[in-house]
Amino acid sequence: MICYIGLGGNLGERQRTLRRAIERVKTIPAVKLLRVSSFYESEPWGVVNQPNYLNAAIKISTELEPLALLDELQRIESELGRVRREHWGARTIDLDILLIEGRAFSSERLTVPHKFLFERDFALIPLKEIFPQLLCNLRGDVVNRVTGSPTDFKLKCVACVDKNFGLGRGGKLLFRIPADLKNFRRLTLGNTIVYGRKTLETFPNRRPLDGRRNIILSRTLENISGAEIVAGVEDLFDALNTTEDNFVIGGAEIFGELIPYATEIFLTVVDADGHADAFFPTVDDFTLAAAQIFDGFEFRRYTR
Ligand code: ATP
Ligand code: MG
Ligand code: MG
Repeated sequence: MICYIGLGGNLGERQRTLRRAIERVKTIPAVKLLRVSSFYESEPWGVVNQPNYLNAAIKISTELEPLALLDELQRIESELGRVRREHWGARTIDLDILLIEGRAFSSERLTVPHKFLFERDFALIPLKEIFPQLLCNLRGDVVNRVTGSPTDFKLKCVACVDKNFGLGRGGKLLFRIPADLKNFRRLTLGNTIVYGRKTLETFPNRRPLDGRRNIILSRTLENISGAEIVAGVEDLFDALNTTEDNFVIGGAEIFGELIPYATEIFLTVVDADGHADAFFPTVDDFTLAAAQIFDGFEFRRYTR
């Protein structure tokens, strides 16, 4: 089941809370985060005397029943300090089910599509960004994209895979193709690379790569000279810069964590079966923008 969730909040550190809520949605069992919209600032709707909101939308796939999903979303709202006082009043975070693909129903606890979706530009504008096929009329309310959205960090995934999208086997890369290594260098040199502990192990002498800012996403590593270590995605966003390209270079787990936020993918696809045990996540949510075919491999570029 594909589902779109609207997020909004107007109390506390709004941007941090949105990022945190999105990361929490990722931890719901049987939920996969597919895509994240930009963040938008909007004027309050319904009850006017309250601070402006920050809004976003996300796309997930889930095996959960809609009501079980609602339970999980409400649990996250409480964990992030949501207190219900007045209807439509100020809150740290609101997580609403906006749409479920192919479903429309109304029950005591849940109406899908959300009953006010088509009257709310603050919900429609982020939703349309990640679901462009949606047909709707906007009312012209004030809804402005803000900087610092996850999509502003220009996260780009780079990987070399076999024909089954296999990345590695036994902790090692499958291929060392000179043209691919050269392409990797050309893309990443002078920019930031983000990777996990296991990828560090694959580098020459297990040292960070020179000529690039190295950021390692790891809960266990402590000190590596030539690299910065961040413990999680929220810390990563604090450390990243919106003015440069940030290349996510592996491994499988790190791609899984960051692909929902990525805007571009560079894949070298080798026409061979490497019998991999680690795979690149699905690229279903991207479109193939360019392909360059060589003897035995191709370069592909995907965009949103
Ligand atoms: P609104 O629903 O107008 O956006 P709100 O989000 O501030 O207002 P909440 O206090 O978050 O309202 O939720 C009130 C109730 O709305 C929830 O307990 C839930 O059962 C019900 N509800 C009905 N449809 C939905 C939906 N699509 N998504 C989330 N909650 C829903
Ligand atoms: Mg709401
Ligand atoms: Mg709600």
